[in-house]
Amino acid sequence: MAEIPTGQEKAQAPLGVYIHVPFCATTCDFCAFYQTVPKGDAVRRYLDAVEVEAGLINWEGRQAETAFWGGGTPGLLRPADIEQLGRTLLAHGGMPKEWSVELAPATVTEDRLSALKALGVTRISMGVQSFNDGLLDALGRQHTTTQIYRAYDLIRAKGFASVNIDLMFALPNQTEEQWHSDLAEAMRLAPDHLSTYCLTFEEDTAMWVKLSQGKVKLDVNKEAEFYLQTWAYLEQAGYQQYEVSNFARPGHRCLHNLNTWNMQEWVGLGPSGASQQGGWRSSNPPDLTRWHADVAVGRRATADRVALTHELLAADSMIFGLRMNEGVSLPRLQKRFPTPQWAGVLDLWPKLLAEGLLTATPEGRISLTERGRLVADAIGAEILEAFESPVNVSAK
Ligand code: SF4
Repeated sequence: MAEIPTGQEKAQAPLGVYIHVPFCATTCDFCAFYQTVPKGDAVRRYLDAVEVEAGLINWEGRQAETAFWGGGTPGLLRPADIEQLGRTLLAHGGMPKEWSVELAPATVTEDRLSALKALGVTRISMGVQSFNDGLLDALGRQHTTTQIYRAYDLIRAKGFASVNIDLMFALPNQTEEQWHSDLAEAMRLAPDHLSTYCLTFEEDTAMWVKLSQGKVKLDVNKEAEFYLQTWAYLEQAGYQQYEVSNFARPGHRCLHNLNTWNMQEWVGLGPSGASQQGGWRSSNPPDLTRWHADVAVGRRATADRVALTHELLAADSMIFGLRMNEGVSLPRLQKRFPTPQWAGVLDLWPKLLAEGLLTATPEGRISLTERGRLVADAIGAEILEAFESPVNVSAK
């Protein structure tokens, strides 16, 4: 397997920093992220350990281009905690060009926002999910629509450069009218960026249990219809779709996510934080106690460790790249990640083109059609298989 190049190309790759804040007051019914209820001095110990972990990273003299605090619920941190975490980031990664923080509506307060703004945070991402109190309740979310409006006004008044709203669709018993009403309400608030996610049923979540008990049902046709209606609605409203689930006004695409989808480099801090840096992809253990134990002995990113190879990066560049509306340039990817495995992948295109799932320009840029984006996960699985299967190059 071909190793990724080191040296100049790697040093110039944009670096993203993700900090996982693993605390939530309760667990939402659909949530599969690692999170835990903070007890005793758990937050103070976490903040101190992130400082130590940041000192363990080989920053290679580089600055963070983007930063993202996700969770969990970063909004559970008090202003003084926010300052400590922010100082850790600034001391090691410098001031990022884009700095996003996820906030749950119920946690948004004037003093937390002031602390974030003073640090230089540029982007707030608020997990709204729905403007319908009944649907929020069915998701096990702990906020109300009144809290959403109050939080949004406070965020806007603080003057952050960019504001994102997350919405979820195809919820149990959600009608098309209810979803249209959620989209209309989001448009009325006019965020700079909108992420719309189809409800997924992850194992070991309360929603999964409800599905296995027959209390809620999967309906793939309904999901596809919601996707198509969402794309048409938001395009008409002036939001440009740039990825299956993401829409932005000009100049407001999420640079941190683009960095990831373009298979650049990132470091993840905190339990379950994932990294792709220095020739390796790996994660911190999704467990506060195990992560503390690792950091205490000077170790990090010990879970799911795999060497970065051209095959792995080429496959993921294709899979994540095709989820983006602009698609990928095959000649550029083949140059960036030269590997014989391209032969198997190129065999897929005629079929996908004939099925109307893919378009290609004469220069070799390929992108999914609307129908293709509906089955992006299945196409991704085919691409992965093609990269993983040995290819008899001489037979091509
Ligand atoms: S707030 Fe976010 S991380 Fe916490 S339980 Fe809900 S979905 Fe999961």
